[in-house]
Amino acid sequence: HAKASGRNTHRFFAEAMNVEAVAHLSIRNGLRRALERGEFLIHYQPQISLDTGKVMGAEALVRWNHPERGMIPPGSFIPIAEDSGLIVPIGEWVLREACRQAAQWSAAGLPLTVAVNLSARQLQRPDLADTVVAALADSGLDPLFLELELTESMLIENTDVVLANIRKVKALGVQLSIDDFGTGYSNLAYIGKLAVDKLKIDRSFILDLCRNHDSARITAAVIQMAHSLNLTAVAEGVEDDDTVAHLRHLRCDVAQGYHFGRPGPADAVERMARHANSVAAPAA
Ligand code: C2E
Ligand code: MG
Ligand code: MG
Ligand code: MG
Repeated sequence: HAKASGRNTHRFFAEAMNVEAVAHLSIRNGLRRALERGEFLIHYQPQISLDTGKVMGAEALVRWNHPERGMIPPGSFIPIAEDSGLIVPIGEWVLREACRQAAQWSAAGLPLTVAVNLSARQLQRPDLADTVVAALADSGLDPLFLELELTESMLIENTDVVLANIRKVKALGVQLSIDDFGTGYSNLAYIGKLAVDKLKIDRSFILDLCRNHDSARITAAVIQMAHSLNLTAVAEGVEDDDTVAHLRHLRCDVAQGYHFGRPGPADAVERMARHANSVAAPAA
């Protein structure tokens, strides 16, 4: 009896693995065609100044609108795109499209920053800065309105290429932020020297900020550290009013999360910015 159920368990796992492998393969094959067929799109999530309540910019978050499966979130295909190297052309498409959108906002009188996530593969390419220069030139976007998000783990392998890329994009006037800060292994002295502009405190600390003393202490420490290094502190994953109040109390600069707006089409951010940024800001 035990043996039979053991065999069933084996078969169950083999089938589950097979289903996963097939899904993986179909995603990988689909990714190759998705770019040509224009199946990717970008949702933008607003970033709000906690001082003024104004919309400062938006993060560009890629989605895959699959013809049969519908909207696929990045967590389901970015890792596969990274393994196969397809993240390089996909990431370039995101960069170009985000620059085009931000340039359009600027032209419409809305000077919003667009933040684009970079993959390790992109940061390791010797032609990254050329790609950024081309995206800026073709869109006409002022480099000050482009922000590139890196993660701590991408900086651990601080090869010459990575360092040169960071130096070059900074020299263009592009802003740099460290995403998911607090979850990786940062060499803090090194972060201080890298001339990044912003630390984005990981969502895991923000989600239970009001209930968990450790999260509250870590968040307070990161904000203080950001300020002593002259960096902007950004909180991601802000879902309620209490968290906003707590972050204001801690002097956090910028917030992003479902409380202010879920990632959505560009015109939703535009509407929100038009509204929030024209209403007179409370004098601090
Ligand atoms: P991330 O860069 O840390 O992006 C933030 C993620 O948190 C987004 O998920 C966003 O929808 C989600 N989020 C925002 N506010 C809240 C909130 O209040 N509560 C909760 N529970 N979640 C919130 P999304 O869009 O699924 O993206 C997941 C990850 O995929 C991103 O994490 C980023 O690492 C990656 N990604 C997205 N777009 C790109 C891209 O164009 N290139 C690369 N390389 N990676 C991307
Ligand atoms: Mg990000
Ligand atoms: Mg993040
Ligand atoms: Mg994240």
